[in-house]
Formats: sequence, structure tokens, C-alpha cells
Amino acid sequence: MENKIKELLSKLTLEEKAGLCSGKDFWRTKPVERLGIPSVMVSDGPSGLRTQAENGANENDSRIAVSFPSGCATASSFDRDLLRQLGEILGEEANNYGVSTVLGPAINIKRSPLCGRNFEYLSEDPYVAGELGAAYINGVQSKNAGTSVKHFAANNQETRRYSVSEEIDERTLREIYLAGFETCVKKAAPTTIMCSYNEINGELSSQNKWLLKDVLRDEWGYKGMVVSDWGAVYDRVKGIKADLSLEMPYSGGQTDNDIVEAVKSGALTMEELDEAVSHVLEMVLNYTEHKQSGVFDMDKDHAESGRIAQESCVLLKNDNAALPLNCPPEKVLFVGDFAEEPRYGGGGSSKIRCYKMTSAVDAAREAGLPVKFIRDYGEEALDAARTAEAVVVFAGLPESYETEGADRTSLDMPQLQNDFIDKLTAINKRVIVVLHNGSPIAMPWVNKVQAILECYLGGENIGTAQINLLFGKANPCGKLAESFPLRIEDTPCYLTFPGNGRTSIYSEGVFVGYRWYDSRKMPLLFPFGHGLSYTSFEYSDLKVSKTAFKDTEGVEVSIKIKNTGSVEGKEIVQLYVSDKTGVEIRPEKELKGFEKVNLKPGEAKTLTFKLDRRSFAFWNVDINNWYAPSGKYIISVGASSRDIRATTEVDVTSSIKKAFTITPQSTIGDMLSNREMAAIIRPEFEKNCETVIGNISDEDFAKKFPFTKEAMVEMIKSNPFRLSRGQNGKTMEDILKQVEEYNRALDK
Ligand code: BGC
Repeated sequence: MENKIKELLSKLTLEEKAGLCSGKDFWRTKPVERLGIPSVMVSDGPSGLRTQAENGANENDSRIAVSFPSGCATASSFDRDLLRQLGEILGEEANNYGVSTVLGPAINIKRSPLCGRNFEYLSEDPYVAGELGAAYINGVQSKNAGTSVKHFAANNQETRRYSVSEEIDERTLREIYLAGFETCVKKAAPTTIMCSYNEINGELSSQNKWLLKDVLRDEWGYKGMVVSDWGAVYDRVKGIKADLSLEMPYSGGQTDNDIVEAVKSGALTMEELDEAVSHVLEMVLNYTEHKQSGVFDMDKDHAESGRIAQESCVLLKNDNAALPLNCPPEKVLFVGDFAEEPRYGGGGSSKIRCYKMTSAVDAAREAGLPVKFIRDYGEEALDAARTAEAVVVFAGLPESYETEGADRTSLDMPQLQNDFIDKLTAINKRVIVVLHNGSPIAMPWVNKVQAILECYLGGENIGTAQINLLFGKANPCGKLAESFPLRIEDTPCYLTFPGNGRTSIYSEGVFVGYRWYDSRKMPLLFPFGHGLSYTSFEYSDLKVSKTAFKDTEGVEVSIKIKNTGSVEGKEIVQLYVSDKTGVEIRPEKELKGFEKVNLKPGEAKTLTFKLDRRSFAFWNVDINNWYAPSGKYIISVGASSRDIRATTEVDVTSSIKKAFTITPQSTIGDMLSNREMAAIIRPEFEKNCETVIGNISDEDFAKKFPFTKEAMVEMIKSNPFRLSRGQNGKTMEDILKQVEEYNRALDK
């Protein structure tokens, strides 16, 4: 391949090279026929194909395809295998439709529940987004179709998405907004990465050298191609220099011309252009030379869509075992138009012209369940509810509430639905709410209804999943990959989202989602990681392979999970790490592992998690590296971020001794908080304390000083070195020398 690309580069004219760097039309790359370089087609993504029809009226006139559950739903499965299988199916479909690249997965972090595109995104947690994104990519690419993980990076709002500058400090970027992409690059090598529309700290992603070249290419070792989001390019030449290879869609020849002129004037070198062209050629040739013919059975994929939905729905509440429905089906009342026409996917670029729709009403009919159905949330339904043994309300957000291009302004469902649910609960004791929404909503009726089944946007066969789950043919096994807040005012970026015009300032830092709510011990509607089952699980025997270890060695953690109920079920087990070293301000805990396990009644299995340096580390801006300070950490294993079942403490020794540079402004406290430095400074500190508080009684101390001995020790700790100038004749020069010595001691 490398030689072929070299040969083509030697034959292509400057104009042809420039032409290859932008699209031929909305969905295709440009061919160079005289050299046998074909044009390839790409297609949205991420939860089904949106491939332009051959004779379509416009670029949005797409072919029929199977619609799968959206990212918000599939993430709730916490199931790497399932995401991989979804990817494999999409890869087959792509091959069948002649699509070189599926434009997905979309893995931006859900900074605010109001972001209009949250339905496509996976999680508020970068570990979940990265692990599941990588599984999806590996699935698609196993069929030799390409992927485009998007939107790199920080496309966390739709308001002014083309021009907003997301103002984010580097630690927050690295830990929260880039980490999922990093995992995808390292674990799945996506063939392409789509840059975002927005700016990051004043520079557009499409021309952001730090982002695309320094971090993505050089640090993470990314080998594939960066493509622009559709219309994200501003300065094309700057983009090429920053490593943006392909501009999409077509540019009417204008930016091709900019490239040609820049090479002629010397503003862009031929090597820089060749680098971009070689990535485009590699993408095109890799696909065309290894193209597989897809096996594509729409009915089979429709069934798969239902299965994926079933694995993804989350049982949020189930009081008095209201579910599964065990009363005669003719005594069950379904209400609401979503029962007949569910909202199955999101709007905008992920909108699928779906193959066929199976609603809950269809699926009940197919299963021979004679449930009564009333479409309108009105009187007729309230009357029928009086005699029903159970009422299932199909509710949620209308499509207009959440879509690409706009953010939501509140968490509320339509008032009509809230009022109706409220009235129903006054009439019937067994009200069950089935939800269709792409992101969290407020539930003013949460304490009045008996059960809530969150189905998110569950794809075209959501009805089959709903019937199986409601009637107990299947056991719910999804958990929330995002927190459901009680009020919008509680959310981490409430005061700053979506910004005041040109900028959006991420003042909450790394405290996103449960990192915020848990650190602040705030009450929630439903916490991150929450989801119920028709069975119950017991956690026991939490073990670590060693209690003290070097960060580079890592550790293995195991826990036994037992199904203590009477039906088969799956549990999603979560592992969190809490830093107790006190070296940096960090979230109360962070997710560093999850496993999903299937257990028969009475069955038990032991799960193992491997933790490495990164599991304990934060991004240290002083050393520009991941750093796990030496000290104590708590490992917690639980059923949700608020349902921790077992904890243990471990001791980590850092392989990085020098994690900060000592200056005359550094304090003794700074140095004591670093275990390596503390070993050096502690004798001196103790001597100091001894001199000031050691040989004096508390009483005499109180006469001499206006504060306690304890306060004095704290004050000594917070003294910067420069304050010792003048003490015992110390000059600034002496202080600088001492600081240098300390730094040298850590360098060794
Ligand atoms: C979206 C992308 C999408 C592209 C092509 C853009 O507006 O942001 O996610 O892949 O359009 O439809």
C-alpha cells in the first residue's frame, strides 16, 4: 500500500492532489480516473445507514435501512460485545450499500442534559464512551468498512455549534473530553476521525494543530485520516497544515484552489500536501482493494435491532413488583401514541428512513396479547383506567424537543403528558410509565407511579423489546450511562451552558455528571449506573491481587456476583476508584471498569478487573503527563454510583518522582503531599515544628500566640520558602540554592 501511494503521489498533478482533499459532492470523494483512483461514498451513522438513494431528490433522500437504537440506548447496555455486534451488522449493511465509511460512532461527552444531540452520544463518562465506541468501531471495521468517530472534539452543545469557542482547561480536556477518543484510537484504530465544528480555546478543530497533530497524531499515534464535519472548514490551508486531510462536502473548487495557490506561493509545502493526500488515498484504496460483499437480510437485522433494544432498556423503578405484568393481558391498558408510533430515533443527520416499524401495539398483537389500547391521553383513557388492573403509559419527548442543531431549554416533558400521568395515578394504583426520550427528563410524578421503563430512542423494533420486558419474557438489564438530575439548576454547567455568545466556559472542570453530583453529595432523580432487574444480585469476596504496588504494575480486582432471585438476569458491575492522596482536587470517585454478567437463579461468577496506571491517574499539567500520586486509593465495586456494595484500600507508588517543580513560592505543605518529596522534607519540617511548639506547654503557647498549636503547624505548612528569607541570616540566594537542591533530589 505504502509503495502504491508513493507511486500515485509521484504521478498526481498539484491540482489533482488539491482536488482529492475535498469531496466530489455531499457524500463522495473525488476520483482521479486517469490513475484509477476511484470515488468512494460515506454515509451517516451512527445507528443505521443514511445512504443517499441513487436517484434521490437531494442528499437527504436516503435509502431504506434498518434503524437501530440510538447511542443513548446502546450505551445503557454497558455491553462491549453487543456494541461490537451492532458494528458488525452496520459493517455488513455498509458493504451491501457500497458505503466505504459509516459516520459514527458519536462519542462526545454529555456535559449538559440539554445538549440537543445527547441522544446520539453515549455517556457523561469518558471510560464508558471510549470502551463502547471502540467496540462499535472494531465491529464495523471487522467487515472492512470504515468508521468515523465523531466529533473531535468537545462538540458538547448545538447552540452556535459552528462558531462557539469551548473554553476548557487542558486537564479537563484530557481527562473528560479527549479520553474517549484516545481509547478509540488506541483500542480500535478508526479509519477516520471527524473533527468537530466548534473552536477549542479559540481555534477551530478543523485547523487545530495542537488537537489534530500534536495530540492525535504524535502522542496517540493515530494512523488514519481526519475528515471535517460537513462545513467545518474555514481556512483550508491552515487545516492541511494541522493534519485535516479531507474536507467534506464539496467546496465548489474554492478551497482546492486555495491549496494550489498556497503551494505555488510557498505558504504550503508539497510534503504537507502529500501527507494529507496520502491519508485520503489510503482510506480510498484500503476500502476498494479489500471490499467485501455484504450479507444483508433486513428482517434479520430488524430482529437484531429489537434484541439490542431489549439489552439496552433501563428499569428505573419497580415498586411492589408492578412489573412484569402478570395479570390477564385483557386487563392491561396501553395509553399514548408512542405505543403505536414510538419515537425510535433522533432527528438530523442520524435520521433513518427505517425499514419497518414494530410498535408495542404491533408486538402485543403478534404475541397474541389482547391488551386494550387508547391513543389519546384523555377522558376515555381515564375511564378505562378505572377497571384496568395495570395501566402502561407510553410517554416521552416529541421529536421537536431534541434534535441536531439546537439545544433543549428545559428538562420538562410536555405538560399534557405530565398532567395525564398525574391524573391516572389518582385513579389506578398500578401505573407504569414507558419512556421515549434521548436524554434525561424531569419526572414530577416519579413518586406516584409504580414502575418506569426507560427505553430511550430504541430503534425500529422497540415494540418487541417493550412487550418482552413488560410481560417478563425478558429481564431488563440496562443501566444509566448518565445521571438523571432532579432539576436543571442542579447540573454542573447550569450557570454556563450554552455560553454567552461566542464562548462557552467550562468552569465546572472535570466535575461532569456523577463526578459532580457525587462529589457534592447531591440528591438525584436517578444516579449514574442505576438500573433494576426482575432478579437480585449479591456482591461478595472483593479481592485485590496485591494491596501495595507500583503504578506501572497495576492490580487485579475480583468480586463474586450471585443471582439471589428466581429468574435469570444480567448485572452490570461497576468499579470506581477514589484518590485519597490529597495531591490534586479530584472527583469523589471515577469509573475505571465495568462488566456485564449473565447469571441463572442461584448461579455465581467471579469477575476480574485489571487496573493500570491510568486507572489511578489524573492529567498533571506541571509535567504534561498522566500521574498517579503515591498514596492511598479506595476501590469501590457497586451496582450504581450510589449503590456501592464493597470497598477496599490499596497503596500505589508512583513511578514518576518529580511531579512538580519546586520554586520559592512552593510551600512545605505542597512538598509533604508528594510522598517522594515528603521523605526528603519531613525531618526538616518536624524539626521546625519541634522548635516552635515542642518545648512549650499548651498554656504557655496560648499566652505567647493568638492561635493553637495545631493552627501553627498548619501555618508552617502553608509558608512558602521565600518567607524564610532573613531567618538565621538566609538570603534569597540561599533559598534559591535550597530549592534547586530539592528539585535535584527528585530528579534522581
Ligand atoms: C453532522 C455530522 C454528520 C454530517 C453528515 C453534520 O452536520 O454534525 O455528525 O455526520 O453532518 O451528515
